[in-house]
Amino acid sequence: MNDVDRRRSADMLHLRRQGLLKGDPVALPLVSSSMFNLPGDPAGYAQYGRFDNPTWEGVEHLLSHLEDAPAIAFPSGMAAIAAVFFATLRAGDRVLVPSDGYYTTRILAEKFLQPLGVEIATHPTAGFAEADLSGCRLVFVETPSNPGLDVCDIAAVASRAHAAGALVAADNTTMTPLGQRPLDLGADLVVSSDTKAIGGHSDVLFGHVATRDEELAARLREWRKLSGSIPGPFEAWLVHRGLETLEVRHERMCATAEAIAPRLAAHPAVTAVRYPGLPSDPAHEIARGQMRRFGFLIGLTLASEAAAERFIDGCRLLQPATSFGGVHSSAERRARWGDAVAPGFVRLSVGVEPAEELWEALAESLDRVG
Ligand code: PLP
Repeated sequence: MNDVDRRRSADMLHLRRQGLLKGDPVALPLVSSSMFNLPGDPAGYAQYGRFDNPTWEGVEHLLSHLEDAPAIAFPSGMAAIAAVFFATLRAGDRVLVPSDGYYTTRILAEKFLQPLGVEIATHPTAGFAEADLSGCRLVFVETPSNPGLDVCDIAAVASRAHAAGALVAADNTTMTPLGQRPLDLGADLVVSSDTKAIGGHSDVLFGHVATRDEELAARLREWRKLSGSIPGPFEAWLVHRGLETLEVRHERMCATAEAIAPRLAAHPAVTAVRYPGLPSDPAHEIARGQMRRFGFLIGLTLASEAAAERFIDGCRLLQPATSFGGVHSSAERRARWGDAVAPGFVRLSVGVEPAEELWEALAESLDRVG
């Protein structure tokens, strides 16, 4: 973390204080009102629960500070992605999405944008900067990609996309704004599933979009208000609480992942490891140039589906589950959802357990697999 990032994280914890009057609660209040006291001219006041909510504003305040850009909260990562699609694309447009990113983004585009007259093109994340961008209105990148952890050069994609007249949206879910800053690298929009590391406790679904383009931000807010794709106040409150410890959790998770990735690569039961922090990883050079940390996700391949399942299930410090970014280390075999990965490919999400304890448990389970 550089000085600016450190300062940003420290200041985030004291942002709320600036607006407090004497006697106000220090913790963010959870406001669940659908109605607001609104006699006469409504302009400039909270009007209705689908338009405004003080608890969303509390979480958006922190997210905007972290992103260094206005952030708009949504009820899930997919709601944030859908908002970007519907706020930027119209019939006749072309959108490029990763062929190897989170599969739901691609399916959403194919099932709901294509029938409305939007052309969907796909390209693998590695080499995304060389993709054919002609006629694109929106270029959507996900780096590192979930689950394969391939990386593309965001600045190179952005400069080619802008030259072709396209907007660039980056899904930063696997990194968080502490690990990678797509807007600073030239992306126009950043989207995030805050269900993952930002919420951090596996107890909430949430998402956000951030952009420095005021017109786009206004359109996204309008989409939220008109479509009703609004986060619940309690969910916003949980994410606000999660954000307050993000920096410590993220630091621990990334440091542990960096320490155990080479040990996994050296274990005889592991046939391949993907981790952008490994100097031998094909994505390492680009990752070193654009990521602040190498993240908390590791892809490891075992000999077979059965070996992978035995490793996950037999490890006392691994929660078998889909999703990632929680305080508990978790893992799953991604081929079970149809992702184009080897049957023995495991996506491991490193949690906040003390690193050596976690390594001992992982190694014990790998030893048993053989
Ligand atoms: N983007 C990525 C990279 C994801 O991994 C996910 C969920 O796994 C999403 C978006 C969707 O997020 P949510 O489940 O919060 O809708």
